[in-house]
Amino acid sequence: MTQPVFRFAPSPNGRLHLGHAYSALLNAELAKRVRGRFLLRIEDIDLTRCRPELEAGIYEDLAWLGLAWEEPVRRQSEHFGEYRAAVERLKARELVYPCFCSRKEIATAVAARAAAAGAAPPRDPDGAPLYPGTCRLLAPAEVGRRLAAGESHAWRLDVAKAARAVTPPLGYARFAPDGSEAFVAARPERWGDAIVARKEIPTSYHLAVVLDDALQGVTHVVRGQDLEAATDLHVVLQNLFDLPTPRYHHHALIRDEAGGKLSKILFSEPLADLRARGVTAEEVRKRLGFG
Ligand code: GLU
Repeated sequence: MTQPVFRFAPSPNGRLHLGHAYSALLNAELAKRVRGRFLLRIEDIDLTRCRPELEAGIYEDLAWLGLAWEEPVRRQSEHFGEYRAAVERLKARELVYPCFCSRKEIATAVAARAAAAGAAPPRDPDGAPLYPGTCRLLAPAEVGRRLAAGESHAWRLDVAKAARAVTPPLGYARFAPDGSEAFVAARPERWGDAIVARKEIPTSYHLAVVLDDALQGVTHVVRGQDLEAATDLHVVLQNLFDLPTPRYHHHALIRDEAGGKLSKILFSEPLADLRARGVTAEEVRKRLGFG
């Protein structure tokens, strides 16, 4: 059997807080239990929001928690060429199309349709207006003209076409920390035609995470429940690129407790601030159940 590989993949667009600490500690703990490897990956594709001092803060916070990870750390910003090449492959198979819409145009179009139908505007699992496929319906000549004019555009996955191109069953194994597993069927259509390459960035979170997990041989993805629905898209991309699907565990999100003697450690407070006011790493680990 190949050695299990776990990873913690934060984005350096803010300081780590207790939720991140839980995710990182759980990954490391589960890796240790099965003599697996523990990787750290820096997900810094958004160059406008990610900052070097926040990346330095990640290393500092994780080391303070007592974690050790393999070097070198993969930094997504150093691999834009690989993501671009993957988008080219999807283009060649006509599974993606350029989308010129702004966020505002999408919200307006979705609201207008919903009003006409007397229904609530459809939303994706993240709560954003569900893209109505506007640019999928553009005439090829118009697309060509707008691309040639250099109009800024994202690339969207034609999710219906993609669903026909994949091999069923589409889904993944969900595992629990006790080792039990269950198959989860994916419903990627609830995302609509998701973005695989953003206007200013040659990838999206979804594309980069899928390519990197495969490239790094990740076998077990442990992350927060807030990313559970995204997994439906991830399995589509894995299938399209003929990549293995890891096993997934989406843990409950850590929330502040009302009162109680542990409430002095707040979920929303950066680990750096906890540290500065004298909370120890041991207290944090205990508070999170890693005594
Ligand atoms: N970079 C993502 C985040 O910080 C996590 C990605 C993942 O674990 O798949 O929310």
